[in-house]
Order: sequence, then C-alpha cells, then structure tokens
Amino acid sequence: MGDISTKAMRTDTGWKDGEAFEIDLVEVRPGVWVSSASASDWDDAFTEGENQGIYPAFDSSFRPMQEQIDLWTERMDPAYPGVPKPYMRGTPNAVGKVKGVAAFPGWSEHQRGEAIDLGFGGDDAAREAFAAIAADHGIVRNVASEHWHFAWHGIPKLPPFPTWALLIMLVVGVSIIGFTATLLLS
Ligand SMILES: [Zn+2]
Repeated sequence: MGDISTKAMRTDTGWKDGEAFEIDLVEVRPGVWVSSASASDWDDAFTEGENQGIYPAFDSSFRPMQEQIDLWTERMDPAYPGVPKPYMRGTPNAVGKVKGVAAFPGWSEHQRGEAIDLGFGGDDAAREAFAAIAADHGIVRNVASEHWHFAWHGIPKLPPFPTWALLIMLVVGVSIIGFTATLLLS
C-alpha cells in the first residue's frame, strides 16, 4: 500500500444518491482529488502504471456540485449532439446511467470522489494495461460508453466471521460429541 499521509488533504461537500455529505479528499496526483477511502488504491494503481511507463492525462476527478450542474446543463442543451430528447426527462439515475452523458447532479461518482476520467492519447494498449493494473485495486470501468471513466468500487472483502457463529458451532460440536459418547457408552 502506498503512503498517502504525505499528500495534501481537504474537505468539501460530496454527494451520493442525491444526499450531501462532508467528504475528506486526498490529492493523489497534482490537481487530482479523490475520497480518502479510495486514495491509496488510486495512488498504488498510478504508481504501478508509472513504473510501466504509463502516464495518463487526468481530465476530471472530484467534482463539486456546481461543476456537475454546469456539465449537466451543458448536456441538457438541445443543441448538444447525441442526447435523445426523451431521455432528458427520465429519472435522474436513468439519464446518467443509461445514456452515459452526464449523471444527474447529486448522483455522479465524481461527486463521491470515487471516479477519475483518464486520457491515454488514443493509446488503446496503454489504456488496457492501466485498466488491468487498476482492477487489482478495485478500480473498474463501469460505464460502457465511457472508456475514460474509471471508478473505485474497492476490493470486496469477506465479512468477518461473527462470534455468535463460532459459539453455535462450538455448542453443536459439543452436543454431537456428547450424544455420540452417550450412545457408545450405553
Ligand atoms: Zn467520469
């Protein structure tokens, strides 16, 4: 795990599922801000990429609300190409996720500090090589129409084995042994 303790930090207002929350942000590369929970995974992925000579361009990381509103407003412009009108009136989530144009303000992964848009100058091999590295750190490309959008989902961890389950297994085990012993000795 990379050491992110030396990196700049700040707090801002993040948004998830339309709800505002205070978010701790870490600057993992110059001008690139992500949630503190995801920071070491991003840092590790970028460092491993750099070790292989892969230096992506950082296009967009954490987005404050106003930036998402501006982006959304731009996409709402009827003159903007490629946005079918019916989808503009869809549910907030459906618009962003189905059409992949811009998430409704409050719903973008960029507002959770968990997404970075990365450019590779059209170098598909570099992009795929970085994607493979990133996957090892719980970072995925989850928007099919946006090959530049990388999002940190974390490595799924098995839930800790609960103490009560151990106790039940102990009780059941002792009961079986006791029952068997009773049968054998009777
Ligand atoms: Zn994005």
